[in-house]
Parts: sequence; structure tokens; C-alpha cells
Amino acid sequence: MAEQEREQEHECEHVRVAVIGSGFGGLGAAVRLRREGITDFVVLERAESVGGTWRDNSYPGCACDVPSHLYSFSFAPNPEWPRTFSGQPHIRAYLESVADTFGLRPHIRLKHEVLMMRWDADELRWEIETSQGTLTADVVVSATGPLSDPKVPEIPGLEGFEGKVFHSAQWDHDYDLTGKRVAMIGTGASAIQIVPAIQPQVAKMTLFQRTAPWVMPRMDRKISGAERWLHEKVPATGAARRGFLWGIRELQVGAFTKHPDRLGLIERIGRSNIARSIKDPALRARLTPTYRIGCKRILLSSTYYPAIAKPNVDVVASGLKEIRGNVVVAADGTEAEVDVIIFGTGFHVTDMPIADRVVGADGITLAEAWKDGMESLRGATAAGFPNWMTIIGPNTGLGNSSMILMIESQLNYLADYMRQLNVLGGSAALNVRASAVGAWNRRVQERMKRTVWNTGGCTSWYLDANGRNTTIWPGTTGEFRAATREVNLGEYEVVRAPVREKEDA
Ligand SMILES: Cc1cc2nc3c(=O)[nH]c(=O)nc-3n(C[C@H](O)[C@H](O)[C@H](O)COP(=O)(O)OP(=O)(O)OC[C@H]3O[C@@H](n4cnc5c(N)ncnc54)[C@H](O)[C@@H]3O)c2cc1C
Repeated sequence: MAEQEREQEHECEHVRVAVIGSGFGGLGAAVRLRREGITDFVVLERAESVGGTWRDNSYPGCACDVPSHLYSFSFAPNPEWPRTFSGQPHIRAYLESVADTFGLRPHIRLKHEVLMMRWDADELRWEIETSQGTLTADVVVSATGPLSDPKVPEIPGLEGFEGKVFHSAQWDHDYDLTGKRVAMIGTGASAIQIVPAIQPQVAKMTLFQRTAPWVMPRMDRKISGAERWLHEKVPATGAARRGFLWGIRELQVGAFTKHPDRLGLIERIGRSNIARSIKDPALRARLTPTYRIGCKRILLSSTYYPAIAKPNVDVVASGLKEIRGNVVVAADGTEAEVDVIIFGTGFHVTDMPIADRVVGADGITLAEAWKDGMESLRGATAAGFPNWMTIIGPNTGLGNSSMILMIESQLNYLADYMRQLNVLGGSAALNVRASAVGAWNRRVQERMKRTVWNTGGCTSWYLDANGRNTTIWPGTTGEFRAATREVNLGEYEVVRAPVREKEDA
């Protein structure tokens, strides 16, 4: 390639690191890069504000299932959390404050959707096409989130439905549900928060439940002024609280990963939670799960069953099959005429859309590389995609604790990755060896065999189309932290730019 051409190509902006996404992962990466002394980076965000999950999911009742003192950054404690399980507006405000406190705003490019990324092997950099132009970066940190692209099932007749339709992550706040007949599709984490929040307002709700979830009581309460004062004046008390919350969850992990038989004890609490509110034996039977607790995500609510017991709610123990005009029809033949359909049907988790937008060193997309299932080293790097790292990548999800712990471990890995690149010098990139990815995944899948997610007798969004669990981490968060403390260079090949022909120089 002639020098002139190359120069023209490089008129576009170049940065050391491009971070994609501004949720906990992207903002955390930005803070960590600054702490490492790296300021030559951008955060590309497709939306109009930061916040990721906690910006998009604003449905009534949206709140965290992990106590706030654990579901927040260790480096940005918030003594002001108002409740033990704070709601979406507070978590969103927390993320906005992180962006301000750590001086991230100058790096953030809102309304910049990443459309395509291509590895340029000549220049050892990523060419990134965004909705607002092209830039290049030595390193890409993809923090696009495992639960950021809503999934709506293909239902025959949906296009002909004349009422209102929306997904839980795209709530239409201008639409008044008062007096409406609602079909709520799904009984996952979002749906069980939405049902009690809107039940008093709607005329009728028909809840489509394919599989009953295990729902445990939610120990939510207001955090008193005295507690907040103490956490502010004596920060060690907030840290101790976080440590305690973390410790109990670490102790629970063994039951999920090695001894699912012990989870029977917890199922008793789940059954009594149903019995407390549901008096009708037929309904109780419909709501009682038939698989081991923990196999699907355990949900927390003290208001879900009381809401379901109300006369304006019908539970259909079947999935939605089709829509005829304004009538929703379940697979078991149950019909209901409705004004609104709300999909609480989750996200594209094992088929992340961003994977179609990354073209690696071999000219194939990450989605093609992952056609038999997602695979990475330590949840971060993928073979054939040099200097490309994902936050909350394959097998980093948790069944019982805070994802922020996993994100922070991955930030340690990112920091060391950047240090290693610096040591190698500007003209080098790291490409993880396929053998290292293979070895890591064999270990992960071996450990997965005994876990409740694989043996509990359910199907869940943790499993991909081939039935392989590519989402959950089968260990403690402490083990993951140890595994991501530093980059083992033996697991990577160092890639150098090809030597250019003389006439090209
Ligand atoms: C309703 C809900 C409740 C949850 N509750 C819990 C909980 O209780 N405990 C827990 O541990 N986890 C929970 N989670 C999981 C949660 O997703 C993670 O904890 C965490 O917030 C993920 O952060 P993230 O930054 O990786 O992704 P996200 O927060 O999803 O952020 C990804 C960002 O990337 C942006 N993006 C995506 N694609 C592009 C693109 N092509 N170009 C530019 N920008 C792009 C998105 O707009 C978004 O801002 C919940 C998730 C949901 C949806």
C-alpha cells in the first residue's frame, strides 16, 4: 500500500483504547484506564446517556436483586443507598455520578453506535465504524453487556395485533395502563417485578408462564438515616457491610456448583412463600416449580404471589403460541382478549449482536468464530481477535452474587493487559492462543457438569442453542478474581506488524 494512501486512511482519529458501552462495564473500564495513567481513550455509547441496563430498564418496579452495597463499585462506595435493594432510578443516578466523579465525561461519545470493527493486521489496530464516523484504536474493550439487546419471540399474528406492544426494557411511559387488559409474557426477573407494580392499575392481567420460577422472599428495607450517617462518617462500616454481603454469597456457591442436593432445604422456603399467599391448590400447583432451585435464576419478591392471588390476574401455565386479532392464544389453547402485550422475554445473551460486528484477523466475524458456542480465555479474549477484550464475556455470569465483582476482576485483567502491551512496545498486539482458550474452556465445562445449572432439570437462558452453558461462572467470585489477577503471556502470541516492502516506504 502506498504511503499516501495509508496517510489518507489514517486521517481518521486514532486512540489507544476504544471502550464500547457505558454501563457498569464500560464506565468501570474507563475509571481503570485512567487509574493506569491511560487518558487516550474514548467510550462509545449508542444511547443518549450513560447507564446501560439501568438506563434502559425503567419499567415499574425495576430494582436490583443484589443488595446495593454489593451491587456497586468497591472503588466508588455510596453511603447514600436508600434501600437495601435500591431501585433503578438510584442505580442509574449512581452511574451518572461515577461518570462525573471520575472525570469520564470528556471521554464519552454518546449517540455513537458501533456498527462494525475490523482488525487491520498491517497496522495492528482496530478500524471502528460508528454511526458518526470512523476511528481506529490499538485496543477494543467491548462492554456491550450480556443483557442489553431485548429479545422478542416470533409469534404468529403479532404484526396484526392492533393494541400496544412493548418489551420490558423499552417501557413506554407515555402509555397509560389504567383499566387496560394486559397480557404479560414471561415470568422471569423483570416480569415478577412488573406484575405487582401494575396489577392494582390494570383491569385484567393474563400472565403467560412457560416455566414457574422459584421466588424467594425479598428482604428489602429502608436503610435508616443513622446507618447512612455511619457509612458516610466511618467508611470502614460500609466496607464491612459489603464484605459481609459478599462473604455469605461466597459460602453459598458450593451448593450451586458441587452439591445441588443440598438446595432442597432452600426449596422449602420457596414453597412456603407460595403457600403464604396462594390459597387455591390448583393455582399453587401451577406456580410450584418442578426443577431444582437455582437451575434457573432464583428470583426475589415478597409482592409477586400476593399480586397473582388478586382476582384480576389469571396465570396461564403455558407459553404464548399465536395472536388472532386482539386475542392472545396460549400453547394450551387458553385465549384472552387484550389491549396490551408486554414482553418480559429477556435478552440476546448467548447470541450477542455485537459478535456480528467484529471481524478478526482471519476475516471472520466473532459470531462465525462462535457458531458452535461462545468461548474465550478467562471471559475476556477470543482467539483470532487480537487486542479485543470483552467485559462480562462467556462464562462470567453469576447465579447468586453481584456482577460488579466479576466486572472488577475483569478490570484487573484489562489493567495488566495494558501493562504487558506497554512493555512489549507500541508495535505489538496480543492474540490469545486457541490452545489456551481450549484448555480454559475444558476446565470450565468439566466443572460445569456437576452444577445445578446443568443438572437441575430445567432449560434456561444460561444454556446456548447446543445446550452448553456458556454464560455462568462455575466457581466463587474469589476464584475468578485470582484467575484474572494478571495476564499470563504464555497464553498469548505476540503479533508484530509485517515488515513493509521497500517501494512502499
Ligand atoms: C432488569 C435487569 C436487572 C438486573 N439485575 C441484576 C442484579 O440484581 N444483579 C446483577 O449482578 N446483575 C443484574 N443484572 C445484570 C446487569 O446486566 C449487569 O449486572 C451489569 O449491569 C451489566 O453491565 P454492562 O456494562 O456489562 O452492560 P450494560 O449495562 O447492558 O451496558 C451495555 C452498554 O453498551 C451499549 N451498547 C451496546 N451495543 C452497542 C453498540 N453496538 N455501540 C455502542 N454502544 C453499545 C448499550 O447501549 C449499553 O449502554 C440485571 C440486568 C437487567 C436487565
